[in-house]
Amino acid sequence: MIEMLEAAGFEAYYVGGCVRDSLRGLEAADIDVATSATPDEMKEVFADLRCIETGIKHGTLTVLTPDETRRPVEITTFRTDGEYKDNRHPEEVTFVRSLDEDLARRDFTINAMATDIRDELTDPFGGRQDLEDGVIRAVGNPDRRFQEDALRILRGLRFAAVLDRGGEGGEGFVIEAETEAAMFRNRRLLKNISAERIYAELKKLVTGPHGGEVIRKYVDIIGVFIPELLPMKGFEQHNPYHKYDILEHCIRAMEAAESAGFVTDYQMKLAALLHDVGKPQTFFRDEEGVGHMYGHPAVGEKKVREILNRLKADGETRDRVCFLVKYHDLVFQEDRRLLKRWMNRYTPEMLLEILHIKRADNIATGNMSQELADKFDRIEAEIHAILEEGQCFSLKDLAVDGNDIPGRPEGRRIGKILQKLLDEVIDGSLPNEKEALVARAAELVRDRTRK
Ligand code: ATP
Ligand code: MG
Repeated sequence: MIEMLEAAGFEAYYVGGCVRDSLRGLEAADIDVATSATPDEMKEVFADLRCIETGIKHGTLTVLTPDETRRPVEITTFRTDGEYKDNRHPEEVTFVRSLDEDLARRDFTINAMATDIRDELTDPFGGRQDLEDGVIRAVGNPDRRFQEDALRILRGLRFAAVLDRGGEGGEGFVIEAETEAAMFRNRRLLKNISAERIYAELKKLVTGPHGGEVIRKYVDIIGVFIPELLPMKGFEQHNPYHKYDILEHCIRAMEAAESAGFVTDYQMKLAALLHDVGKPQTFFRDEEGVGHMYGHPAVGEKKVREILNRLKADGETRDRVCFLVKYHDLVFQEDRRLLKRWMNRYTPEMLLEILHIKRADNIATGNMSQELADKFDRIEAEIHAILEEGQCFSLKDLAVDGNDIPGRPEGRRIGKILQKLLDEVIDGSLPNEKEALVARAAELVRDRTRK
């Protein structure tokens, strides 16, 4: 792409995240190119390639690489941002002819570098040094930059959560003092930012290797759009099971909850972070001074639903996270029959996820015993064994269905009889074999008719 633009007499550079990532020796998530060509000039240069024009008003043309990967490359005309209103994206942009002006509109020094096709670096704000030192620093005056677009505050936290300096202990990036102070000062402007933009950054933040540290340090900023976190901070639980206040406990649960069979990891992380959000409201102390929070999962579920609706999370994420918050208190026993019932009620996948968040919850008390850890391992193994042995735990595993029930009882009655058969199969008092099940069903139908 860059070659084609240069051949047509324009300047063109890799910019932003892909330069940052390649200097760190990583493969970039997406490739951005900045060019002196205007959108119309670009269209001419790429007339023979597949182009997507969705961003054209802001100077962006997405071009698919001609090779078989068909990777989209976003090519944007050098621009400065026009008037900012309401601390959000500018309404209009101004195209300019110089790379330096374009780099100056970018958010952080580590994102404000460019390289050309010959690997020559343009770095007017010391981004390379900051990258080496692990520093997140606003380009220009941080107050002004956050007032222009307050999302940058959250982007800064996201980079602090995601970027890792590598090496022993895996230290994260630090936010430079002036930039950090301006983030706190301007945090309320995040209220003007759309839920979609906030949520996209939040998802990345919670999954970053330093997500926990960032939430711990910057909860007052994140609390602007999730105010439910604020009462959790410093809330002592006065309970012998818990070493930490509610927020610290939840952050530790989030850190402990790495993905396991979860479709997307950020859902598990969000569930762990929010699992005790119902605690402050349900807290009371008994005569001995011990703290209790009865009913907190149900209250928490309601709050989480509000939070995720407000952030415009997709329905699948919302329902999954709510489900996990609601059931995180389920008390597991090493009892095959009980586990089969729960596999039927919740599905095996969701039961494993409940077990998983419960494990994270217990690790995060700071008091988990080895016995409890071993018990979790055994229960998990048991659930897998039930699955591998092909044991019957749901109606669809039953060797009969509604058509096999003798005497043609009414539909609702059939459902009840099947359920009863399943219960008895799970209990082990009835084999999962057609003949025996039909005979037992006939008995149940008879019993009913006699009554
Ligand atoms: P990622 O690795 O997540 O893609 P990124 O830095 O590439 O991170 P993008 O959202 O892809 O982030 O943006 C590309 C570049 O555009 C950034 O590196 C930055 O230079 C600039 N940019 C993006 N959003 C903003 C913003 N809100 N304000 C200023 N510059 C921004
Ligand atoms: Mg990018």
